[in-house]
Amino acid sequence: MAAAAVKEKVQGLRISEFAVNALRCPKCRSPLSVTPDTVACRSASCIAVYPVVHGVPVLINEERSVVSVSDFTGQKQTTFHRQPGLQRLFSRIIPELGVNRVGERNYRKLKELLTAQNASPKVLVVGCGETGRGMKAITAEAGIELINTDVWMGPFTEMVCDAHDLPFADHSFDGAVVQAVLEHVADPPRCTAEIHRVTKPGGLIYAETPFIQQVHGGPYDFTRYTHLGHRRLFRGYDEIESGATSGPGTALAWSYQYFLLSFVRSNGARAAVKAFARLTSFWLRVFDHLILETPGTLDAASGYYFMGRKSEGMLTDRELIRLYRGAGETLPASDCSLAP
Ligand SMILES: [Zn+2]
Repeated sequence: MAAAAVKEKVQGLRISEFAVNALRCPKCRSPLSVTPDTVACRSASCIAVYPVVHGVPVLINEERSVVSVSDFTGQKQTTFHRQPGLQRLFSRIIPELGVNRVGERNYRKLKELLTAQNASPKVLVVGCGETGRGMKAITAEAGIELINTDVWMGPFTEMVCDAHDLPFADHSFDGAVVQAVLEHVADPPRCTAEIHRVTKPGGLIYAETPFIQQVHGGPYDFTRYTHLGHRRLFRGYDEIESGATSGPGTALAWSYQYFLLSFVRSNGARAAVKAFARLTSFWLRVFDHLILETPGTLDAASGYYFMGRKSEGMLTDRELIRLYRGAGETLPASDCSLAP
C-alpha cells in the first residue's frame, strides 16, 4: 500500500513519529511512554500498560469496549476476519449486489481539500482493516500521511484502538475517514464526538454509512442512519457535500437476498442462496446510476456519505430538519406504521 511506504516508522513499530507524539492514554488521555514492547501511561494515578503486538500498539480501554486486549495478545480474530480463500474467489467471480458510485470521486475531492490546507496532512483512518472503496486517491498520495487504526489486525492496521476512546491528543489530525464503520460501533455519537475532538479546527471528515442494508458482520452490527440522522452525527461540522453512496437498486437487491436467506439455515444453503441471489439481482444496481441523485433516493438509499469541515458551532436540530432534501411530505401520524 503506497501510504505505508511514504512515512518514516519508529523502529520496531508500525506507526510514525507523528503518531507516537499524538498518542494519549485511551483511559485518562495522559501522555504515554512508547517502546517497541509496551506502551505505558505516564499518569501516576492511571498507570495503565498496553501491549505492542508485532509492532502494533493495542490501545484499548477495556472498561468501555467490546474488544479485549487479550483478543490480540492471544492472536484471536476480532470482529471481521478475512474470508476463506474459496469464498473470496467466489466473491470475485459472481457480481456484487451493489456498487459504490461516489467513493472514488469523493476521495479525489477529499485529497484536493486536504492538500490545499496542508502540504503534508495527517489523516486518521478509523476502520482501515480492509481499504475502503475508492480510497486509492488518498492512499496513493505521497504527501498524505494516513494513521491506520482498527479493532482488528487487518493487513493495514498500524494501531489497534476503539473509536469510542480514541488514544490521541485533541486537535491532532487534519482529517479523518470513517467508511462503513459506524454501523459496527455500539455508540456512534460517542465515536463521532471522539473523531471531532481529535480533529484540528477546520479539519475535514469523510464518512460513509449504510441505511437500507441488512445485518452484516454478525453480532457487530448495531444501527442504521437516514440521510439526516447521518448529518446529525456530524453536527460539529459544516457540510461540504453529502448524498447517497449507492441507491434503491442496491437496497432492493440486498433485501431480495436477505428475503431468500431467511428460508434457509445451514452455512452451505446460505452460500448457495447468496450465489443465486447475486446472479439473479446484481442488475438492479444499474438503476442506481440513473436515480442516485433524485429526492426519492435520499429517502431510500442503500447508504449515505458526508463530507464536512469542523466548525466552531454546532448544527441545531431545528436547523437539521431544514436540510431535508428527500421526496416525502411531512408525515401524518396515521401513515406511520408504528402509530396505533
Ligand atoms: Zn492513563
